[in-house]
Amino acid sequence: MEIQPSFKIEIKYMKKIAVIGAGIVGVCISHFLQKNNNQVYLYDQHEPGTQTSYGNAGIFANHDCVFANSPNIWRDLPSLLIKKDGYVSLDWMYIIKNFPWMLKFLKNCSYSNVDYIAKSLSNFSYHAESAYNEIFSDINVDEIVVRKDSLYLYETINDYKNGQYMNGLRKKNNIPFSYINKKEIKKLEPSIAPVYYNGVLFKEESFTKSSLKITQKIFENFINNGGNFSKLKIKSIYKKNGKLFLYYDNNELNFDKIIVACGVWSNDLAKTIKDSFPLDTERGYHILFEGRKDLISRPVGWAKLGFYITPMDDGIRAAGTVEIAGLKKPINKKRLELLEKSARNILPQLGKVKSHWMGFRPTLPDSLPVIGESKMCNNVYYAFGHQHLGLSLGAITGKVIQSLVENKRSNINIDPFNPYRF
Ligand SMILES: Cc1cc2nc3c(=O)[nH]c(=O)nc-3n(C[C@H](O)[C@H](O)[C@H](O)COP(=O)(O)OP(=O)(O)OC[C@H]3O[C@@H](n4cnc5c(N)ncnc54)[C@H](O)[C@@H]3O)c2cc1C
Repeated sequence: MEIQPSFKIEIKYMKKIAVIGAGIVGVCISHFLQKNNNQVYLYDQHEPGTQTSYGNAGIFANHDCVFANSPNIWRDLPSLLIKKDGYVSLDWMYIIKNFPWMLKFLKNCSYSNVDYIAKSLSNFSYHAESAYNEIFSDINVDEIVVRKDSLYLYETINDYKNGQYMNGLRKKNNIPFSYINKKEIKKLEPSIAPVYYNGVLFKEESFTKSSLKITQKIFENFINNGGNFSKLKIKSIYKKNGKLFLYYDNNELNFDKIIVACGVWSNDLAKTIKDSFPLDTERGYHILFEGRKDLISRPVGWAKLGFYITPMDDGIRAAGTVEIAGLKKPINKKRLELLEKSARNILPQLGKVKSHWMGFRPTLPDSLPVIGESKMCNNVYYAFGHQHLGLSLGAITGKVIQSLVENKRSNINIDPFNPYRF
């Protein structure tokens, strides 16, 4: 399927650029490249926004740094090994098969490395909101974006104490949040059962009532302004006589620049130009519940299992948790049962389960994305690996890619995201 603009626009194009991957990251990149008068061709084998970007918790964590590496891993390891009902679930056969990735992940769990990850992510997410504001000044998202601080709850004093290390990092990196007691939580969100000890309010955040519509609206605006979309799978990238090509279905197409924004699948294309990255996945789940959406007014998180319940336009969505089990294993029903049980524990009025979903967060062993130009094939750029923060960081990634492609200096430090840091 090809979608072409319905009218001709007289613009002098600067460069012919292919963006591969129409998740939130790829459509934001396409938006900024097009805004700067490039001729942009977007490719995806699926409809835009229907893969990992479809099912997230919908939070624009404008100033946060969320990631799995932690020096507490050594303290938590024994329970991770046995417990199946925690925030993280591990498939041991998968871990053994992918031990080199796990070793790299563990190396990034030292105090100094975790400090560096928190600083790098929060410096980047500091620009997230203003980048989205640029996109949203062209697109009306009034009905699907709500400005509201999100709430994160600790069930017990122990959970609260365990969260202090991460909150300390937030404080150190000027991430705006405040502690909130039981009485205040009750006042803010009266429908939440009083099963918590206390919580945290993350300030200056917003959320979307439809993760899919966010991607779709940015995509539609791109098409209406002359962008091109083809629904097909790109097989490889290569150079011939100094020219850059994409290959698909026995066809080749020449471009000035190519951007790989294929989320967790990005390595497949990187390998065709002899790059390779330690990219893996943190699988996450969501359940959509029927019934009143107005039971809560904001995303409410539950530290113990690492998920949020968010009021979406089609019901209340409980989304999150982490499972390390790769791309091939089927949905783990036990994770879904646990998610449902925990969501009903905090919001007993939840209705019937409408649907469930599993998605693949693209994650590198240091939880930082890969953003930069290929050394193996110049004019190819990478933008993937946004793990828990891909919705939040989509727009700022788009802006950064635009300045890289145009060789412009940017005041945003992307050294930590260097593709060749491993
Ligand atoms: C349960 C859960 C909750 C989350 N909650 C949040 C949240 O509240 N806030 C937040 O900021 N983030 C959240 N995230 C993370 C966020 O959803 C992801 O980081 C983000 O969606 C990644 O976007 P992407 O565009 O990189 O990948 P994707 O959305 O997966 O898009 C990649 C696209 O590339 C395409 N593709 C791959 N290979 C090819 C090829 N060869 N040819 C053509 N197309 C190809 C795929 O079809 C896909 O459409 C959550 C994730 C999960 C799983």
